[in-house]
Amino acid sequence: MSLPSYHGTALGTSVHVVVTDPEHLDRAVATVERVVAAIDLACSRFRDDSELSRLQAGDGPHEAVVSPLLAQALAAALRAAELTDGAVDPTVGVAVRGAGYTVDFANLPADGGPIPLEVVPVPGWRRINLFPATRRVEIPDGVEVDLGATAKALAADLAAAEAAATMSGGGVLVSLGGDVAVAGDPPVEGWHIQIAEDSRAPITAEGETVAIRSGGLATSSTTVRRWRRGGVELHHIIDPATGLPAAGPWRTVSVVAGSCVDANTAATAAIVRGASATAWLEAARLPARLVDRSGAVIRVGGWPAPVDQTS
Ligand code: ADP
Ligand code: MG
Repeated sequence: MSLPSYHGTALGTSVHVVVTDPEHLDRAVATVERVVAAIDLACSRFRDDSELSRLQAGDGPHEAVVSPLLAQALAAALRAAELTDGAVDPTVGVAVRGAGYTVDFANLPADGGPIPLEVVPVPGWRRINLFPATRRVEIPDGVEVDLGATAKALAADLAAAEAAATMSGGGVLVSLGGDVAVAGDPPVEGWHIQIAEDSRAPITAEGETVAIRSGGLATSSTTVRRWRRGGVELHHIIDPATGLPAAGPWRTVSVVAGSCVDANTAATAAIVRGASATAWLEAARLPARLVDRSGAVIRVGGWPAPVDQTS
């Protein structure tokens, strides 16, 4: 049975909203659009008028009292860094641009001339001071904050929670470019989510699906946001230790966790950690599905084996 749903695009990514009760769909979509727009205005590095861009305009250091939403996004990014021993680190800003990811991906040329690639570790998340009680932020000279890894997942979590709060009974699923959060009462059989490397992929009968009842599921991948400069293949997930695109064995990692932010944090960290990620995910008891560069799939942490669709 298919549930009432909305599919659209917003801010360069696909948006899917699914509800259990058709009466809730319009309001849930409006809530999602409002939250996504607010996160973009607070956190985007692609628009000069975002709060984060204005905070970091010109040479550093930068200090300010920020909005509650930007403070929450910064706190989520710093928590992700702490939980992953810095594999996910919001101070990748200079490195992301240095790898050639300088404009919104839709406007990024797929090919281009060579660019200088140097091994320079990122400054490190501990250089950022955030005082949650006063929402004061201090970013030292030379540090550029990029919230790309956590802001979209945070938007999914906040949008799902806010949409569910306006419902009396029933539940909602929000997917922003494959970063999925669910809230409220799930359907009896759970929320069925098809796993894909590219969130724009069509839903097919053969696709591998998993069901969740709460929390979130996120996929991070080096296959979609990639480009070529001077014949070198580059992608958008930076290893903070080298400041260059992560070179490990995984091209796509999907994780289920208690929230979409935690799922995305673990998925990005797994790509950065490379071979040691499977043991780390097992120890954290996070169900995960990893795809290596040859397309081979490994499932850990209780991620279910695929159901044979032909039986
Ligand atoms: P995906 O979009 O495939 O889900 P992620 O969730 O990992 O990928 O987010 C990648 C984005 O996060 C990049 O575009 C960049 O803005 C930022 N980023 C890249 N590497 C890191 C990292 N090691 N830690 C934190 N943020 C990162
Ligand atoms: Mg992700």
